Amino acid sequence: MLLMYFFLRYFFFSNLTEKGDFLALDLGGSNFRILRVKVTQDKKQPVQMESLVYETPEDIIHGSGTQLFDHVAECLGDFMEKQKIKDKKLPVGFTFSFPCAQTKLDEAVLVTWTKKFKVSGVEGMDVVKLLNKAIKKRGDYEADIMAVVNDTTGTMMTCGFDDQRCEVGIIIGTGTNACYMEELRHIDLVEGDEGRMCINTEWGAFGDDGSLEDLRTEFDREIDRGSLNPGKQLFEKMASGMFMGELVRLILVKMAKEGLLFEGRITPELLTKGKIETKHVSAIEKSKEGLTKCKEILTRLGVEPSQEDCVAVQHVCTIVSFRSANLIASVQKSKQLVISSIHPPFSSLCRYARRLHKTVRRLVPDSDVRFLLSESGSAKGAAMVTAVAYRLADQTRQIAQTLAEFRLSKAQLLEVKKRMRTEIENGLGKKTHDSATVKMLPTYVRSTPDGTENGDFLALDLGGTNFRVLLVKIRSGKRRTVEMHNKIYAIPIEVMQGTGEELFDHIVYCISDFLDYMGMKSARLPLGFTFSFPCHQKSLDAGILVNWTKGFKCTDCEGEDVVELLREGIKRKEEFDLDVVAVVNDTVGTMMTCAYEEPTCEVGLIAGTGSNACYMEEMRNIETVEGNEGRMCVNMEWGAFGDNGCLDDIRTQYDRAVDENSLNEGKQRYEKMCSGMYLGEIVRNILIDLTKRGFLFRGKISETLKTRGIFETKFLSQIESDRLALLQVRAILQQLGLDSTCDDSIIVKEVCSTVSRRAAQICGAGMAGVVDKIRENRGLDHLDVTVGVDGTLYKLHPHFSRIFHQTVKELAPKCNVNFLLSEDGSGKGAALITAVGCLQNVCIA
Ligand code: ADP
Ligand code: MG
Repeated sequence: MLLMYFFLRYFFFSNLTEKGDFLALDLGGSNFRILRVKVTQDKKQPVQMESLVYETPEDIIHGSGTQLFDHVAECLGDFMEKQKIKDKKLPVGFTFSFPCAQTKLDEAVLVTWTKKFKVSGVEGMDVVKLLNKAIKKRGDYEADIMAVVNDTTGTMMTCGFDDQRCEVGIIIGTGTNACYMEELRHIDLVEGDEGRMCINTEWGAFGDDGSLEDLRTEFDREIDRGSLNPGKQLFEKMASGMFMGELVRLILVKMAKEGLLFEGRITPELLTKGKIETKHVSAIEKSKEGLTKCKEILTRLGVEPSQEDCVAVQHVCTIVSFRSANLIASVQKSKQLVISSIHPPFSSLCRYARRLHKTVRRLVPDSDVRFLLSESGSAKGAAMVTAVAYRLADQTRQIAQTLAEFRLSKAQLLEVKKRMRTEIENGLGKKTHDSATVKMLPTYVRSTPDGTENGDFLALDLGGTNFRVLLVKIRSGKRRTVEMHNKIYAIPIEVMQGTGEELFDHIVYCISDFLDYMGMKSARLPLGFTFSFPCHQKSLDAGILVNWTKGFKCTDCEGEDVVELLREGIKRKEEFDLDVVAVVNDTVGTMMTCAYEEPTCEVGLIAGTGSNACYMEEMRNIETVEGNEGRMCVNMEWGAFGDNGCLDDIRTQYDRAVDENSLNEGKQRYEKMCSGMYLGEIVRNILIDLTKRGFLFRGKISETLKTRGIFETKFLSQIESDRLALLQVRAILQQLGLDSTCDDSIIVKEVCSTVSRRAAQICGAGMAGVVDKIRENRGLDHLDVTVGVDGTLYKLHPHFSRIFHQTVKELAPKCNVNFLLSEDGSGKGAALITAVGCLQNVCIA
């Protein structure tokens, strides 16, 4: 029934961290007031106020807009002069208690004047613009008008500063109005579903469409006819302070005329509009001295009241204000917790307040409604809104500054690409290889599959999230098929970080279990070992571990041949025998798997726990391997890119913090900026910093937030999902034990998307370097190439792959890069490599 056309958008409540010096103007109540409000962190007296009331002469209230705003600007100037702050440009909040259409906080287009105001040339105009113009015209001071609020909002905000549960504001004063916090998804007029916004109901206009006709009396109609705005604000005219005295007066006139009061005496005073005021009604209503007051007031009107007259008049007053309280209570339908109501004429009317509270509780029995009385709410509230707006503007700037470091320009990304090229050359060069960070390890895989591969193979996949043992049956011929059986085994953390012997005993135990499970203990199968760590290979079946990465840290393995370690493990077990044919990196497995389907696939990429790539390089460029004919796949181990400091200019303090807390400090710097294992940690470190600076979680760093690893990358995926409303983001954070507001969730979401965007971009810059190198190797102006990709980050993150593709395209415009998702690259790929390897040498020999 109530149209909520007028709104004030702010998602925020005070989080009690605002401070500063603010001015507030309060126009639209019975007085025009200017305040200076100092908000400090002082617990005892957080808000200090000084204020002055200025006259608003009748001729201005009914004059022109220019006059009105010149007057306001003049009063503000005078106030600043008296406060000795005329040289400062302070933020100003403007309480303007008339219906306004707002599209932002510092703009308010007046819809219509109400109450006693009728100033020409203002309706349909932005009052902030008008006031700014008037201030500029004077030129003797500056002011920064940051927020326009309605008095209801001001009241809610003031009480909200003291009690965060306050979500409704009611004014019952000269006029009556209410506001409350509404969910944005219920507000069709405003875009977005996230968070909430304060709605100014302008309920004073309730009934203007005729919906209250059955309740309006002849007295209400008479008041309306004699008002400045007939037909408007009908509810307000029945319920607010401005009209209550008049209502009583009109009733008394009628009763006197009918001889029911004052023995029919009617005096000129009684007939004069405004002679009975709301404060009189309030005084008469008081149970003790009410009757004496009544006599006094009536005597002043010259009607010579009898004792019975006084009792009757008191009764009339009670009925009129009772109706007002009931009316207001009955439109108060909200379920919120605390309601604040205010205003001088009625704060004295304690019977009124009690009645209102009682009726509200009766009408909404299932809500726990509490009332707070706001002190000078309308103006102080404007200062509070301004303070919050000011803090938010400042906070937004500082957060943007923090995140700006993560936003890389095209020039920066091109620089990353170029540096990757340099490191690639270093890794391939004979002289530079030893000191190179991107190792460019030869894999002895010399060709991609051609479809003639055939046989049954075992494969191991170690180095990802799961350890798996697989049986892969590859069938060549017209109808090529690959059939796979696999079993996943856990590798307990104590094994991951124990001794090498324990690790390989565990692996062999798992193989044994798998062979039992498949019922093929006796078959001596060729085995491919996907081992996703940097290895120096001298042949397909020998790989010397350079160093552990990701979560692994076993002793006695670095510098050893892992195939040998595996063979020894099998020997120790003395249960079965296997031919370990190939040790394979997961990137290579991925490339091979995709190449089996798509012959142009010559690059492999992993974007999962870690980040790495491989590609087919010309033998002549691989100076670390004899021979110049043909190609060989090189496992780039690009995760180590930057370990010589060449990315330090784009690394942030958060990247350094993640690095310092890792198992391999100083190593895998590129990987730590772009892979699944670390993105969540980067986010967590940013959140800690923003919280320390008071921008998040009310400045409190919870134990959860301090916990390493809680922010898994899958949460980034969830939080960044476009389908998710803010409330759901909040629920995710809640699950993580992070008690967040809607504002917090907006910030967290932005942090996540900034971090994952950078990850996708620098990963794309590296890939652009790779494909451009392949193109140049072949002396082509244009290269068509396919990249086989595996990894959960790439597959499940809602934006990573798109941004990654886009970056590659932008940074390597001469390459047409196609991306193919690998289906279980590490398992199938290992088998394919083993098959290719068997064809090429071992098995044939
Ligand atoms: P691995 O790289 O270990 O072989 P995956 O490719 O499955 O295995 O990647 C696992 C990693 O992906 C996890 O460590 C985690 O960082 C990340 N991850 C898991 N779930 C998601 C998700 N929903 N969105 C993005 N990243 C995820
Ligand atoms: Mg994997």
